[in-house]
Amino acid sequence: MSTPFFESHELTKDFGGLRAVNGLSFHVNEGEIFGLIGPNGSGKTTVFNLIGGYYPITSGSLRFQGTTLNSLPTWKICKLGIGRTFQVMKPLRRMTVLENVMTAAFNRTDVIAESRKKALEVLEFCGLAHRKDMTAKGLPIGYRKRLEIARALATEPKLLLLDETMAGLTPQEQAEGVTLIRKIRDSGITIIIVEHIMRVIMSLCDRILCINYGQRIAEGSPQEVANHPAVIEAYLGK
Ligand code: ADP
Repeated sequence: MSTPFFESHELTKDFGGLRAVNGLSFHVNEGEIFGLIGPNGSGKTTVFNLIGGYYPITSGSLRFQGTTLNSLPTWKICKLGIGRTFQVMKPLRRMTVLENVMTAAFNRTDVIAESRKKALEVLEFCGLAHRKDMTAKGLPIGYRKRLEIARALATEPKLLLLDETMAGLTPQEQAEGVTLIRKIRDSGITIIIVEHIMRVIMSLCDRILCINYGQRIAEGSPQEVANHPAVIEAYLGK
């Protein structure tokens, strides 16, 4: 049997008495766009935080290209090739778009010229090159979302975790976001995406896992998941 690209095995996370993720098993194939959906509070962000090493895992395991991630520090997980989007934080808002992306590129190189070269390449790829000298805080939201993606790409991920990158965008900006995400996948990067906008999820994903109360309730193609009674109930029940 070949090793899955990414695998979660009975992943469980407790916060005190609250079981936020409960025995969650799934795998992601190399090259696919895998959607993780579920109502608010169902555990999606916690799963991303566990993959990124931000919280210790209560039990279960995570494996990426054959390496067990449990208890590795975040920087090691990043070096292995797992990148994720973050909202651009306050201190970084005063830096330019280029500086923001260079900061992220320092995960791969400590040579300034190299990080600048990488950052410019990523900004071009993300359609942000013409905004490189603006401060992050001056960017319209559509571009700020792209900047979050550019920062994650600058760490040179093989697996990219996208967390709500479409929130607050106009339908036109969402369509551009979908095009960018497809382009990222076509460049050879595997993607796990958490997103509330169903139209986006349905048009992008090869497979979708729907969770509620930290547990799997359905998994399959976008069609299968959208029509699954447990999924419909979970969303309507809220
Ligand atoms: P989602 O991303 O699907 O909205 P979350 O992963 O943010 O869900 O949250 C899942 C559950 O875990 C929620 O009940 C939330 O209140 C709880 N939770 C998340 N992070 C923490 C934390 N750091 N400490 C305590 N409880 C948390």
